[in-house]
Amino acid sequence: MVKSWRATVLTIFPEMFPGMLGRSLAGKALEAGHWHLETVDIRDFARDKHATVDDAPFGGGPGMVMRPDVVDAALDSVEGTNRPVIYLTPRGRLLTQSRVRALAEGPGAVLLCGRYEGIDHRVIEARGLEEVSVGDYVLSGGEPAAEIVLDACVRLLPGVLGSAASLDEESFERDLLEYPHFTRPQEWEGRAVPEILVSGHHERIRAWRLEQSEQLTRERRPDLWARYVARREKKDLMS
Ligand code: SAM
Repeated sequence: MVKSWRATVLTIFPEMFPGMLGRSLAGKALEAGHWHLETVDIRDFARDKHATVDDAPFGGGPGMVMRPDVVDAALDSVEGTNRPVIYLTPRGRLLTQSRVRALAEGPGAVLLCGRYEGIDHRVIEARGLEEVSVGDYVLSGGEPAAEIVLDACVRLLPGVLGSAASLDEESFERDLLEYPHFTRPQEWEGRAVPEILVSGHHERIRAWRLEQSEQLTRERRPDLWARYVARREKKDLMS
């Protein structure tokens, strides 16, 4: 039997899981056994009777820092060392669809959620943790970030989405944002659906959608657009 994709989340708030991951697509996939979720309560690895996980920062300054010995012991308790161990942090590499795809194709992930000012740098270094950010903004904890990573991965697991074809044209798949969508009613508050979409000409619809995707990407995401153009030029050169 194929082992299901396995997620382990280390957190001081295990009750936050599965959270939104227990509903809708991810929740159904969890119930169906397409993936498996477990939490590790970092507080269980505290060394004192008050279950302290944090302390004041050396050098002074505001806030508290999670202790390396406590986090390290929590990480030690996780079985299955063949999975990437990710520390969610705004200082990490920005999460991309290609990293999500690579994670989804692997055996699973171990996700470490920070709180307070974050985690003592020594444990990040000693463990060679992969540092991942879910965006250029600061959350109050790693838990919502971990849920974002897991949600993005789980929908790519085999058997989770009804139609795998719907993934091919999604935003980021070809360094393009997706084209706009329309459904019934055909006219709504004086706005009609673009004529081409009701024409029945599949080839022209495909071309229109690509054009829309290209225009949106050029306007909104110059970084993606530059990659798309470079890739297209390389392909042209090779053909
Ligand atoms: N002092 C940190 C800084 O300025 O980089 C922010 C700490 S934040 C208040 C607490 C925790 O939330 C972090 O340790 C991290 O686990 C999580 N977090 C916050 N923003 C995040 C983001 N954009 N991506 C991933 N995790 C984030």
